[in-house]
Amino acid sequence: MQSSKRGFGQAVVIGGSIAGLLSARVLSDHFEKVIILERDPFPEGPEARKSTPQGRHIHALLEAGLKVLDGLFPDLVQEMVREGVDIVDLARDAAWLQSGSWKARYEGGPQSILVSRPFLEWKVRGRVTALPNVEVKQGFGVEELLTDAARTRVTGVKVKGPDGEQTVEGDLVVDSSGRGSRAPHWLELLGYGRPEEEHVGIDLGYTSRFYERPAGFDDWKILVVNGRAPEARRAGFISNVEGGRWIVSLNGYFGDHAPTDDAGFLEFARGLPTPHLYEYIRHAKPLTAPVSHKIQASRWMHYEKMARFPEGFVLLGDAVCALNPVFGQGMTVIGLGARLLGEQVAQARNSSGGLHQGLGRSFQKELSKIIGTCWFLTTTLDLAHPQTRGKRPIGLKGLLWSVQNMIDLTSLDVKSCMAFYDVLHMRKGVEGLLQPGFVAALMAYNAKSLVVPREKRANLTTLPPPPGRKRSPAPPDQQDAAA
Ligand SMILES: Cc1cc2nc3c(=O)[nH]c(=O)nc-3n(C[C@H](O)[C@H](O)[C@H](O)COP(=O)(O)OP(=O)(O)OC[C@H]3O[C@@H](n4cnc5c(N)ncnc54)[C@H](O)[C@@H]3O)c2cc1C
Repeated sequence: MQSSKRGFGQAVVIGGSIAGLLSARVLSDHFEKVIILERDPFPEGPEARKSTPQGRHIHALLEAGLKVLDGLFPDLVQEMVREGVDIVDLARDAAWLQSGSWKARYEGGPQSILVSRPFLEWKVRGRVTALPNVEVKQGFGVEELLTDAARTRVTGVKVKGPDGEQTVEGDLVVDSSGRGSRAPHWLELLGYGRPEEEHVGIDLGYTSRFYERPAGFDDWKILVVNGRAPEARRAGFISNVEGGRWIVSLNGYFGDHAPTDDAGFLEFARGLPTPHLYEYIRHAKPLTAPVSHKIQASRWMHYEKMARFPEGFVLLGDAVCALNPVFGQGMTVIGLGARLLGEQVAQARNSSGGLHQGLGRSFQKELSKIIGTCWFLTTTLDLAHPQTRGKRPIGLKGLLWSVQNMIDLTSLDVKSCMAFYDVLHMRKGVEGLLQPGFVAALMAYNAKSLVVPREKRANLTTLPPPPGRKRSPAPPDQQDAAA
């Protein structure tokens, strides 16, 4: 099935969520046909699906993720903006209490869009399913991988659909079936063994609901309230989303989860490290009931470390690594991973070896580098909680001290904040934090932290106004009272 004007014959993508859709998009440039097999039928509109319950909770997109989307789908971002999605400068439009200190606000920070996950997925799905060489089969659950006789190459999948079992052949099979991926079991059955698993246990719970956004309110477009670990175990988020709404998500570690009744939801918000979020929502009009979602652990399946790996097979998305969502990295890692997949398949087209000369192994290796930075950022902060289950690196105490100082530094020093955002938004790798100017500022701050109390060297209390305004933002009802 090789060699055609597009390069390769048929690709099979397992799962039609964000990783599956982006994979299909990049593969459509190189394969005659791409088949997406999705177990859970798609809704007509921008609605959350049963199999992706995380879609009911806040989904931030980092700048690097936005750029990938923009590159893969011309005019998609502008189309969403025309339909009521905010495009934002996160340094200007976000009010962010991180680890107990408020981030500096200035013009010229990373760009992003504020959009609900079902809306984003619906828009991306619309673009991908409109591609002439992409076919989506809904209600088709993949049951196992098919291989050649020597079991060295994946040649397709066995799938159960409305009319029973069938096989679907592919020169490349992408597993983007999310956290519940059965690939470890499939690979074990084929004699490859299971990948090493890394877990960082956090027992995190999200509870979220939509509110009507107060008219004319523009002191911030996204508010994040996240206290300092280990004392604080709760965080809260309010984000503008399409339809003139706010999505409000509350989360808590180690079983301290926000209830799903009205009073309990508000009471939990009141118990956040600062009262700001509670003040903003207590008089706002809820549009939906609170819903909850639990995440026991961040989990990384190290396919890149497997001693043997079959040809014709790659994995992307939560199937490989499901991160603690608090930094909003998941979809961006997927976007970068999809772009990488496209690049590697393009290279394979130009090489004499074609698709089956170690592409899977090389892809998982390169993907693990993208994941590594994100994993380090999130798990390090999670390990500040003594209850977190996971391997503690040597020197963790010193690392946490320095990371906390770095975060506090970004509350008052715009240059350092810019360097921090560059890494967080994946404009640069962690080496972005090793630049001489940043290192010098952090070293000086580390020294200062030994003698100056935290409240005198970081903004712990005042929600900063947007650039150009002097007055600190207040909830709409209090603004009315002050007027
Ligand atoms: C509460 C919460 C908040 C989050 N917030 C953010 C955020 O702010 N920003 C961010 O970037 N990320 C966030 N994430 C992470 C993000 O949701 C995930 O990284 C992303 O959804 C993973 O996408 P995926 O396509 O890999 O898997 P999924 O979205 O889980 O989709 C897997 C798909 O595969 C299908 N499937 C499964 N098995 C089969 C099979 N055998 N055959 C056929 N189809 C199958 C499923 O039906 C599903 O459609 C958050 C996650 C959670 C839980």
